[in-house]
Amino acid sequence: MTLLIVSPHRSDLSRWQQALQTCAPDLDIAVWPQVTVPEDITFALAWQQPAGIWQQFPNLRCVSSFGAGVDHLLQDVDLPTDTPIVRLVDPLLAQSMFEYIAAAVMGILRDFDVYETQQMGGLWQSHTPTLSQHCTVGIMGLGQLGTYTAQKLVKLGFNVVGWARSPKQIEGVTAYSGDAQLPQFLQQTQILVCLLPLTAQTRDILNLDLLAQLPRPAYLINVARGAHLVEADLLAALDAGYLRGACLDVFRQEPLPPTHPFWAHPKIRVTPHSSSITNPESVAPQIVENYRRSQTGAPLLNQVSRSRGY
Ligand code: NAP
Repeated sequence: MTLLIVSPHRSDLSRWQQALQTCAPDLDIAVWPQVTVPEDITFALAWQQPAGIWQQFPNLRCVSSFGAGVDHLLQDVDLPTDTPIVRLVDPLLAQSMFEYIAAAVMGILRDFDVYETQQMGGLWQSHTPTLSQHCTVGIMGLGQLGTYTAQKLVKLGFNVVGWARSPKQIEGVTAYSGDAQLPQFLQQTQILVCLLPLTAQTRDILNLDLLAQLPRPAYLINVARGAHLVEADLLAALDAGYLRGACLDVFRQEPLPPTHPFWAHPKIRVTPHSSSITNPESVAPQIVENYRRSQTGAPLLNQVSRSRGY
């Protein structure tokens, strides 16, 4: 029985192999495409897997994502619908995501974007700083990452509101739920953070109609998936003054094509899908645990609901 690592775009997977092997010295590990006996593959750890890959592994019992998101697996029509999918839930992933969002939020609070533009023109002009208690951050998605981020932002002194599918009780956070409460959430959100999973319901959710409901000018931080954002609508919202700027870590096409208008846009900050990168040593124990569970049929950790889509 073999655990297969599939991540064709990562140049070096040796750290992942090492982390897994340290947790389970007897574990047999293969790295795609070097697979000698496809029938031995019972568990796969996959990211950006090539199309049609699963047909060659008739004894696959479980597939784990390399990270928190599973859209690449749920959208894979070649993955049998009865193969369980699990995802990674990890404190370091949440901490790293919060630290990225905190950096972006603080930069907006203290007008770093404005000063960056002023510096290019040699302009010495100060602006009265906004204080955190006068700034409302709205987080779409109050799951593992959204809840952690919300709690930490509350501790930094921000007003924090959140929106999820189901009602939530998080100390210090005003939480809204469902489509009916979305307008109430948006009306008070000055800095909008998207931490939703990509599903049929959330694809294209960051569109002009939604951005127009924010107080003007608001700011957008998208750290979830590129397909949440209608890119042309972001440009329109910036032009219309609905938004003062956007910080984007994820894109419809990654890497972002060299000619894409976002690269040179003065109000858009681009980072290369790096807001929270999975730490192999931190997540190896849960991957090995799920590998073992999948061999015995025991309940899996962090199993994804195919019907919910996350
Ligand atoms: P999670 O624990 O599954 O939480 C998802 C949250 O979204 C839940 O609160 C859920 O509501 C809410 N939600 C789902 N569908 C909704 C809808 N239609 N309307 C309103 N709320 C909805 O996910 P997570 O671990 O926090 O991760 C969130 C996403 O972050 C991942 O799916 C991934 O795409 C992205 N991510 C990006 C990076 C990066 O480097 N950029 C790194 C890690 C993760 P309920 O609580 O009511 O179910």
